[in-house]
Amino acid sequence: MDRRIVIVVSLTAAVAAGLFALGCEGPADIHRFSFETMGTIATGTVEVWDKTLKRTPEELVEATFDSVNVQLSSWREDSEVGRLNAAPADTAIAVSEWLALCLQASSALNRASDGAFDATAEPLMRLWGFYRRDGHLPSQAELDSVRALMGHYTYDASMRTVTKHRGDTKFDFGGIAKGFAVDRAVSNLVEFGISAALIDLGGNIFCLGVPDGREAWRLGVRDPRNKAAVLATFSAVHKAMATSGAYERFVEVDGRRYGHIMNPATGRPAEGLLSVTVIGRRATMCDGLSTTLYVSGPDEALRLLRDVYHRYDAVLVLPPNEGKGKARVLATAGLKGNLTLTDEAKLGYSLSFLSF
Ligand code: ADP
Ligand code: MG
Repeated sequence: MDRRIVIVVSLTAAVAAGLFALGCEGPADIHRFSFETMGTIATGTVEVWDKTLKRTPEELVEATFDSVNVQLSSWREDSEVGRLNAAPADTAIAVSEWLALCLQASSALNRASDGAFDATAEPLMRLWGFYRRDGHLPSQAELDSVRALMGHYTYDASMRTVTKHRGDTKFDFGGIAKGFAVDRAVSNLVEFGISAALIDLGGNIFCLGVPDGREAWRLGVRDPRNKAAVLATFSAVHKAMATSGAYERFVEVDGRRYGHIMNPATGRPAEGLLSVTVIGRRATMCDGLSTTLYVSGPDEALRLLRDVYHRYDAVLVLPPNEGKGKARVLATAGLKGNLTLTDEAKLGYSLSFLSF
């Protein structure tokens, strides 16, 4: 299952405590759900206090994810992105508000990271075989010709149009669309009167508000070297977060695994970090930034967190120094006194906090 941050404590205790505290209002109904969407699994835990609601929270969340997918999926020819990808060069294409928001966030990340985040990685993903789910190890000539297709477009924010300068420049918003979908679902839930919920779309999480009867949501970062284990736990209130790592999705060629996050500078899967978790206010940016930091590698990721993205917290997981000793977990100063390694993880990882 594609979930990189795990919910450590269930809501059951919270509900019991809330019942006691709020006696006469009656307890909240806790809606829990799980379904497949956008190539991954979505789960939710939603407190429903108003018993007169006409729709269930799961219907609302599922409908939201479906509409994001219909617009932003590069896997579907009939999506808005599918149509944009098929569009010819030098034609201004009007885009929806949602696509415009993803383009703007992607462009900002692209500029800040010197091209590490690139929403036009579609031809690279295709070349490596991710779209047909059958790995292919490209030659240098193939990599060069596909890299030459990337980035040839102009976005006009005032007209809300995209003009591709090459017909074969194609978009893949897989690095940001799930976070975007989570933000949309959460704002729909809030509009619907929900004040506490935890929504997880394949490791892109929003914990809305405060769970009833508790001080915070408890969350865990998965161990990138052992998917079944939790690496570290922390508490969060009204926060978004996302994890990127190559251990979840990959293609295999001749017994070797190639991760699904591409370094546009080389055309090859990014290397250097085992996983990156980003915690912030919006799931869209946490998703985009975790992909960006993963591609950027350890040194540049630290620079970006210090100089540009200092409002975000992050947990970087690095392999052992020169392959010896423990793997390293680096967390930003904002997580000090909050994030701790699990006893099991202490055997294989050392934890330190960054000083900026
Ligand atoms: P996941 O999709 O598993 O949650 P990420 O959010 O890190 O993981 O996004 C990885 C996805 O982003 C890839 O599957 C692909 O669709 C897209 N992608 C790959 N390389 C890049 C890149 N350099 N910049 C932006 N998006 C990328
Ligand atoms: Mg991402």
